[in-house]
Amino acid sequence: MVKISTTNSKLGVIPSVNLPPIVTCRRNCPCARDCYATKGRYRFQNVQDSLHHNLREYFANPDQYFEDVKFAINNGMVSYLYFRWHAAGDFVDGRYFKGVIKVAEELPATSFLAFTKKFEIVNGFIHNGGVIPENLHIVFSAWGDDFKIKNPYHFPVAYVRFKDKENKTIPTTAAECSGDCTHCLQCWNIKNGQSVVFNKH
Ligand code: SF4
Repeated sequence: MVKISTTNSKLGVIPSVNLPPIVTCRRNCPCARDCYATKGRYRFQNVQDSLHHNLREYFANPDQYFEDVKFAINNGMVSYLYFRWHAAGDFVDGRYFKGVIKVAEELPATSFLAFTKKFEIVNGFIHNGGVIPENLHIVFSAWGDDFKIKNPYHFPVAYVRFKDKENKTIPTTAAECSGDCTHCLQCWNIKNGQSVVFNKH
């Protein structure tokens, strides 16, 4: 059974499913050396076990993985309005992304959010005629000025403001992250062409 997290301090009451960072992230990810998902509570053995458990569950039976996620979101006793894919980790592969799409299509009353640096998976899906459901909000995740994002379909972008160096690519119109998703929800409502900026942890 896939493990769903309801204990993320930033997400508040919004549940998420999480995967191990680095191994699910893009190759040579610029943030790998300073990944927040390898620090703090993510270093606890039970949290690590849960992340790796979820990845094993996906590889063992991809269809069941997404059935488990769906059941956690809406099972007749609870029905969540908001859900976050991957406070830690990223889309594993193209098949995984199609599973994310299917979950959104089958749970239209829930609003989904996923940040990703696996731009090629999302762009490739659209290039091949795929359609992102309206209740699935994909946000491309930027890093420093040197990290180029391939964004031909104008997905919203999340920028990072570093403490020790200027990031000139951050648009002046980018919305500030308040750090409290439950009372903010702006990423679940963000539109193509818009952006948000996070202060580096
Ligand atoms: S901008 Fe708001 S919704 Fe987006 S991550 Fe920050 S607190 Fe959460």
